Amino acid sequence: MSDCIFCKIADKKIPSKIIHEDDKAVAFEDVNPQAPTHVLVIPRKHVASIAELNAADSGLLSHLMLTGAAMAKQKGIADSGYRLVVNTGKHGGQTVFHLHVHVLGGRPMHWPPG
Ligand code: AMP
Repeated sequence: MSDCIFCKIADKKIPSKIIHEDDKAVAFEDVNPQAPTHVLVIPRKHVASIAELNAADSGLLSHLMLTGAAMAKQKGIADSGYRLVVNTGKHGGQTVFHLHVHVLGGRPMHWPPG
């Protein structure tokens, strides 16, 4: 989608710190990190949110989550633990409407979330 900032990152039309890419997904450093490790994993194809996916997209969703886990390993936080987060919609705190999985770690996480 031409005016989507994450589509532009995936297409390398704007700069970002990409740490992984494959045919279906791109992972890059969050520009405003909320933890020592904060990576975003996005699908290459534009999907506004997880609410738009259905059973036919289960392969894509699983790829995003497993890529998140692989990024945690790559960043050295797999053993200490981490959180994968998919903010969805207004009450979910979503601000960028291109599906993304946050990979957060490097410090203890709290529960319940704010
Ligand atoms: P959410 O609030 O779940 O929609 O998360 C959007 C995330 O995208 C936030 O953590 C932002 O800091 C991050 N973000 C926004 N623009 C950029 C960008 N150009 N490069 C990297 N991360 C970004």
